[in-house]
Amino acid sequence: MKIAALIVAGGTGTRVGASCPKQYLSISGQTILEHTLDVFQHHPKIDMLQLVVHPDYLQDKFFHDKLLPPVAGGATRQASVYQGLQALSKSCPNLDYVLIHDAARPNLKRETISQIIQELTQHKSGILPAHRIVDTLRRGDKDLCTDEDISRDDLWAAQTPQSFPFAKIYAAHQKFKNQNFSDDTKIYSAAGYPTRLLEAPADNFKITTADDVEKFRILKMSQTHPFPDIRTGSGYDVHKFVEGDHVILCGIKIPHPFKLSGHSDADVAMHALTDALYGALAEGDIGVHFPPSDPQWKGAASDIFLKHAVDLVSQHKGIISNIDITLICEAPKISPWQQKMRENLASLMSLDVSRISVKATTSEKLGFTGRKEGIAAHAIATLILERS
Ligand code: MG
Repeated sequence: MKIAALIVAGGTGTRVGASCPKQYLSISGQTILEHTLDVFQHHPKIDMLQLVVHPDYLQDKFFHDKLLPPVAGGATRQASVYQGLQALSKSCPNLDYVLIHDAARPNLKRETISQIIQELTQHKSGILPAHRIVDTLRRGDKDLCTDEDISRDDLWAAQTPQSFPFAKIYAAHQKFKNQNFSDDTKIYSAAGYPTRLLEAPADNFKITTADDVEKFRILKMSQTHPFPDIRTGSGYDVHKFVEGDHVILCGIKIPHPFKLSGHSDADVAMHALTDALYGALAEGDIGVHFPPSDPQWKGAASDIFLKHAVDLVSQHKGIISNIDITLICEAPKISPWQQKMRENLASLMSLDVSRISVKATTSEKLGFTGRKEGIAAHAIATLILERS
C-alpha cells in the first residue's frame, strides 16, 4: 500500500504582515513549510511527499528524504492541487491514497494522520478532518445582531489534510479542472464519491493572521524548550542627603528635613530597581542609557528610566516575574509609605502589586547610612524570557 502527502504551498498571502508568504516565515529555526513537511516526513505510513510551490520558490532546497521534486502551482489552490496530483500519478502510478494538506497548518498531530489513514483504509472513502464549533453562533453585522438561535449540532469547521483514494480524487480533479470548488471534498462529492467526517483536534489551525503566527511560535517553543529562560539582575545605588524638605523614594514624595542630591530626582530606590532590570537583560546600566552628562535628565522624574527598562524587557520578549527592593537608612521611616510605593511601582510597571516587594532596614547606626549621610538601595529583579 502506497500513501502520499500532497502539501500545497503555492500561495503568496502576506496577510500576516511579513515580507514573505506566511509559509516561509521562520519559527524555531525553520520555516512553517518545513515544520509541516516534518510532520509527514516522520510518519512511518507516509511513503512520499509531493510539494507544490509558487514558481518563484521552485529552486528552494529541502532536506526531507521522502520528498519528490517540487512542482510549480497554478493560479488557484485547486489548480495547484491538480498539478500535484498529476506529478504524483507520474512518479507513482500505483499510489493508493493521498492526504492533501495546506502548508499553513503546521500544527497537525501525528495521531491525526494515523487516524486518517486508518479511516481511509477501512472505508475507502474521502476523509475530512474537522472540529466541532463550540462558540455560540449569531447572525448579524456591526450595526445589528439578531437573536436567532443557530444550532451547532451538525456544524463543523473543516481542516486539512482532506484525504482520498488517489485514483478517485485525481479523476474528480481532472473532470472539474475548469470549474472552481472551495475545497477537495467538494470536488470529490461533485464526482459522486462519499466523504466521512473525522473529529480532529482544533489546534490543527491554519496560520492566517499575525496572531496565528504568534500562537504557533509559542506552541513550538513550549515543545522544544519546556524550561523557561529565567534571568535575575541586581541593582545598587546610593544618594547623599543635602538640605531640603522631602525625599522621593519609589516615586513617592516623603517629607524629611533633608533631600537626596543627584542629577535627576535622586530616587535611589527606583535607580537600583532600574539597574536590576538592565542587569537581568545584560543591557548595561542607567548611566549608559541616560548619561548624567546629558542636561536633559537634570531633575528628571526617575520613572522615565524605569519605564525605559520595562519597555526593554518587552522588546526582549520577556515578562517581569517579581522585584524586591531593600532601602537602607536610619530615616525617614519607610513602613508608613511602603504600600504606596508598591502600588506606584505596580502601576508604572503594569505588574501586580503582589509581585512587588519594598522593605527597609537600618545599618545599626554604622557606616554612612548609620550616620544619616544618605540612603542606599538594593534591588533584585527576576525576568522570564522567551528562549531564542
Ligand atoms: Mg542614582
